[in-house]
Amino acid sequence: MATRYVYDFDEPAGGGRELLGGKGAGLAEMTQLGIPVPAGFTITTDACRAYLESRRLPAGLEDEIDAHVARLEERTGRRFGSSDDPLLVSVRSGAAISMPGMMDTILNLGLDDGSAAGLAARTGNPRFAYDSYRRLIQMFGEVVEGVDAHRFETALTSLKQSRGVQQDTELDGDDLRELVETFKAIYRDGTGSDFPADARAQLVRAVGAVFASWDTPRAQVYRRAHEIPDDLGTAVNVVQMVFGNKGERSGTGVAFTRDPSTGDPGPYGEFLANAQGEDVVAGIRTPQPIEAMRTAMPDAYAQLVETMGRLETHYRDMQDIEFTVEDDRLYLLQTRSAKRTAAAALKAAAAMTDEGLITREEAVARIDPAQLDQLLHPMIDPQAHLEPAAKGLNASPGAASGAVVFDADSAVERAKLAPVLLVRFETAPDDIHGMIAAEGILTVHGGMTSHAAVVARGMGKPCVAGCAELQIDEQARTATIGSHTLHEGDVLTIDGGTGRVFVGAVPLVPPQLNDDFELLLGWADEVRRLGIRANADTPDDATRARAFGAEGIGLCRTEHMFFGEVRLPVMQEMILADSEAGRRSALDRLLPFQQSDFEGIFEAMAGLPVTIRLLDPPLHEFLPAEEQATDDRMRARIRALRETNPMLGTRGCRLGLMFPEIYEMQVRAIARAARAVQERTGSAPLVEVMHPLVGFREELARLRELTESVWEEEAPGIEHLVGTMIEVPRAALRADEIAEAADFFSFGTNDLTQTTLAFSRDDAEGNFLTEYLEDGVLRHNPFETIDVEGVGDLMRIAVDRGRSTRPQLKLGICGEHGGDPRSVRFCHALGLDYVSCSPFRVPVARLAAAHAALAEQGTASYAAAGG
Ligand code: PEP
Ligand code: MG
Repeated sequence: MATRYVYDFDEPAGGGRELLGGKGAGLAEMTQLGIPVPAGFTITTDACRAYLESRRLPAGLEDEIDAHVARLEERTGRRFGSSDDPLLVSVRSGAAISMPGMMDTILNLGLDDGSAAGLAARTGNPRFAYDSYRRLIQMFGEVVEGVDAHRFETALTSLKQSRGVQQDTELDGDDLRELVETFKAIYRDGTGSDFPADARAQLVRAVGAVFASWDTPRAQVYRRAHEIPDDLGTAVNVVQMVFGNKGERSGTGVAFTRDPSTGDPGPYGEFLANAQGEDVVAGIRTPQPIEAMRTAMPDAYAQLVETMGRLETHYRDMQDIEFTVEDDRLYLLQTRSAKRTAAAALKAAAAMTDEGLITREEAVARIDPAQLDQLLHPMIDPQAHLEPAAKGLNASPGAASGAVVFDADSAVERAKLAPVLLVRFETAPDDIHGMIAAEGILTVHGGMTSHAAVVARGMGKPCVAGCAELQIDEQARTATIGSHTLHEGDVLTIDGGTGRVFVGAVPLVPPQLNDDFELLLGWADEVRRLGIRANADTPDDATRARAFGAEGIGLCRTEHMFFGEVRLPVMQEMILADSEAGRRSALDRLLPFQQSDFEGIFEAMAGLPVTIRLLDPPLHEFLPAEEQATDDRMRARIRALRETNPMLGTRGCRLGLMFPEIYEMQVRAIARAARAVQERTGSAPLVEVMHPLVGFREELARLRELTESVWEEEAPGIEHLVGTMIEVPRAALRADEIAEAADFFSFGTNDLTQTTLAFSRDDAEGNFLTEYLEDGVLRHNPFETIDVEGVGDLMRIAVDRGRSTRPQLKLGICGEHGGDPRSVRFCHALGLDYVSCSPFRVPVARLAAAHAALAEQGTASYAAAGG
């Protein structure tokens, strides 16, 4: 049997959102729930994929569309293309994963001169009929034929000027009939042919154009940024038109069941009387708060509130809906799981658990670990007394400073040099690359549901929208706020949490975490199996990490302890010394510094394990460049230490074997610190001494012996572990032998990625790797997300072989991947004991570890919940 491509909203389709798209699945589900939805049908993503292969509608699709249009005619009692009371439809894109504003929609299909006149007569409202018609010509022209949108906008503006009016709504039926003729002329001029009068032809061409919009550059950029697979395709929904622009008893809006910025109970949203949906979404007219509907249309408002409550209960999640009121009658056009800030996600999840709508596990699963980062963004110092230069809407939280840029391309260019702030009249989907590059977004125009607001919130970037006090002069490339004139490159600061805008840079402070955050992370801790440690090198970092919930230190890098005004010259003296005695004398002076650092860290982490890694970088990193050498001796030493590939050279445990006195001093400092802390506090710290870059059993065996003999001298009786990082492929492959000398392994996946892939961790990212990611050679940056098939396989080998020798071997990871949610999930699957990451990512890792455990049990993740 031939593939079926079209389903009415009230027909069971199977295949869910993958087949019908999120919007189609939602419309079908709402229809089946008895919620007021316009009638219509969905053309499946199968049809889109078939279209994209051949660039034409698949065989049989047009017949199916005809049959479903006929049913729609039956149901609505109106005829498509008729000049008397015509059936009009919208054609709306809708992929399985929502991509707001990325693909195209066309409204009012089915109008031509005859049916527009018929509609005017039937409704007694020529203004409405010709407004609908001119919109169709404009949208069809732009979307199907690529006619420049500005040509239509300019014609509308000049008509308003010639009539001496400000608002579109002040134009009357005759004005709009005239505008229709102007638009037809623009269409003819732009395409070389007349606007198609045949309703069926309009529909078929519109469907093809919406399918094709899946592949526009802006949609591709969006998919790449959000890691949405290219082969999903979009469904198309053909929906009976209902009209929000029929007069003052009509209108359109978008609303959330809870505030998407704070999570406070709703409804929350915006409404425009006498308008069509595109006016709200595009932010062209500034809408009123949804509350305004309560007095303007009390019945429709009451029905809206009741329907939203039902939808939230049914979907057991916060919803984002689009609706239209036609002559006081409410219709829902869409419902979807609401995009929300991390703060709102936490608050709503906690409240929904309280209300008995979801379980604790589901609440945890609803929070996107990557999004938690938002809460961890800096804020403007509340103590600072600052005068904002302007105020707009608090569209997406967090504060950001950056050099002003006025267009998306400049944002991308300038962001290579310094942080930028994208300042636009309003943003459009074509600005997506600039929004990705910018630290924050500031717009003059548009509301909380404008493109800028929705996209920034999804990206977790600060955004201030609708800042009317700001004026942009596109020609001069300047902006003015009050008495300030800003040029491209001048610095502005925005506070997306309050909507304030400041001229210049402003002091920022780390975020304040609230009770919802603690509550949800507490629930996450109940679920996860992986331990979470932090990479911390100072007592301050250790304290912060502990406050974020770290259960120990997985990596304390000791190299920074050799820097600083007092220490560095002593370290350099050690490196320049030409005898062991000379080196030892310098090291003796460094020891007390290290010891006191370790004592501070042990006390901050009292009761929790601390893994200290001995010196790792090549020694030349402690000397200046040759030109800055202070004397000939230093110059000669710099030359002698020079290596072509220092990252593959004399570093890590190789240093410890060549200059055992360095590691001996470090172990002595650690052991003395452990003893001092034990004497001072009554409990010994849980110390793990870690050797870097080991590849051979013999390396570790010798270093273990050194470690144990110094420990025995300094802190006999204090328990401790000795282990190694796994950072080179050989260590992973020979893990069974290496485990003979190791109590623990910690995967140093930064180096393991570098050494496995032969990608320099210092150079690849600004270079070929960027191109690899853009061209799709690689899907993920392997320095961010573990290359599961390559590096991950080596890790698996190391785990198996290591445990075959030592079943109790402790296993962790301390490369940057330890804070990356996808990599955390892999580490969970591998059966590691813990992940270790930077203090600020500890909460993200706690949640990601819980998600990994929940996924194993089959509890849906936030993505599957429709996020
Ligand atoms: C690693 O290589 O993954 C690691 C944690 O060590 P470093 O980044 O200090 O080389
Ligand atoms: Mg390393």
